Amino acid sequence: MSISSEQIRFDQQHIWHPYSSMINPPAAYPVVSAEGVRLTLADGTQLIDGMASWWSVIHGYSNPTLNAAAHAQIDKVSHVMFGGLTHEPAIELCRQLVEMTAEPLQKVFLADSGSVAVEVALKMAIQYWHAKGKPEKHKLLTIRNGYHGDTFGAMSVCDPVTGMHEIFSGVLPQQFFAPAPQVRYGQTWDENDCAELEQLIVKHHGEIAALILEPIVQGAGGMRFYHPEYLKKARQLCDDYDLLLIADEIATGFGRSGKLFACDHAGISPDILCLGKAITGGYMTLAATLTTTRIGETISAGGAGCFMHGPTFMGNPLACAVANASLKLLRESDWQSNIARIEQQLKQGLAPLAELDSVAEVRCLGAIGVVEMKQPVVTADIQPLFVARGIWIRPFGKLVYVMPPYVMSDEDLQTLTSGMCDVIREYSEK
Ligand SMILES: *Cc1c(COP(=O)(O)O)cnc(C)c1O
Repeated sequence: MSISSEQIRFDQQHIWHPYSSMINPPAAYPVVSAEGVRLTLADGTQLIDGMASWWSVIHGYSNPTLNAAAHAQIDKVSHVMFGGLTHEPAIELCRQLVEMTAEPLQKVFLADSGSVAVEVALKMAIQYWHAKGKPEKHKLLTIRNGYHGDTFGAMSVCDPVTGMHEIFSGVLPQQFFAPAPQVRYGQTWDENDCAELEQLIVKHHGEIAALILEPIVQGAGGMRFYHPEYLKKARQLCDDYDLLLIADEIATGFGRSGKLFACDHAGISPDILCLGKAITGGYMTLAATLTTTRIGETISAGGAGCFMHGPTFMGNPLACAVANASLKLLRESDWQSNIARIEQQLKQGLAPLAELDSVAEVRCLGAIGVVEMKQPVVTADIQPLFVARGIWIRPFGKLVYVMPPYVMSDEDLQTLTSGMCDVIREYSEK
């Protein structure tokens, strides 16, 4: 397989890529195949993928087990509507999700993408209070530096500045924002970190349906790791003041932070949990929103008599079959020691960068390594340097970060981190 220069031109002229321009966009690199942790470009170049295709490809590309699951399912049924019909892949996937997540989470809604899983979570919270006869509790509370997706409800709870949606601020519902947690993961806890969150809750709980946050790891809104005590305290405040807690674990779910779910760092369980990204091992789009029996039944006992959501491709059998195989693969592996191994490698490999004048901070948690620069990097300038080193990294603002597939070997991790060190040095000297 190869790609012609005419096709690349067509791509540039006609196809939007994520957050891309229609005026002279840089040419995207054409991928013709991928296996394990390597992407193969049309010219034969191989790149070690540091991004796991945005957190998702945890078992590597073209994984034989996942390929087999997809092939087997495609010969049975690729898709069938979920209204009034059901199938084994969805049932077995939801059984695994209920088993893997905290005990109170018993009801599963299968969504088509992370953003939709967040919309579903927000609607669940609002419908819950409506059914309880408190329709005035329909606002949301969140913390700054968060990212929850690109659809309208999700955008309204993204950080107004780093969340990429500033232009829409006049159109979005106005929500409540507490400052981002300041005490980092691993630092000494300070109760004051939650003071403003508490004040907001005390003052406005009568109009707030839920607190939504990314537990422990704030992803696309800043790649920050915060103290588990903050999450514990947030859980307590939600209980004390009758707010639902929505944990958005779309990025952190399935082991990425070193625990199966980031909430496990604090030993808490949310009322509503959003999962996505790694759920199918990066094979196709699928997400899930889980909630408790109490919330599920309260919503269903309300005036509407049901939960008001039902996408066309809900519970897609092909995606469910691969997700099933992906979760089984993860659970049968020794993922804890594997993530610890990757964390160790990232810490060691990226440490030298902390010395550079251009670097503000280097931080690692689980299989996530972050180099925060003092100035935003120009992606169009730095991207070719990474590609020349045989590694795929997609920086964002001041953040040069990696979250590799869990199957990356020590040797490939070494190539990845030393490539990052070389490129960041070279880029900083320019
Ligand atoms: C990626 C992400 C989303 C959005 O998921 P999509 O599949 O891109 O819609 C939501 N929340 C978090 C924490 C994410 O990392």
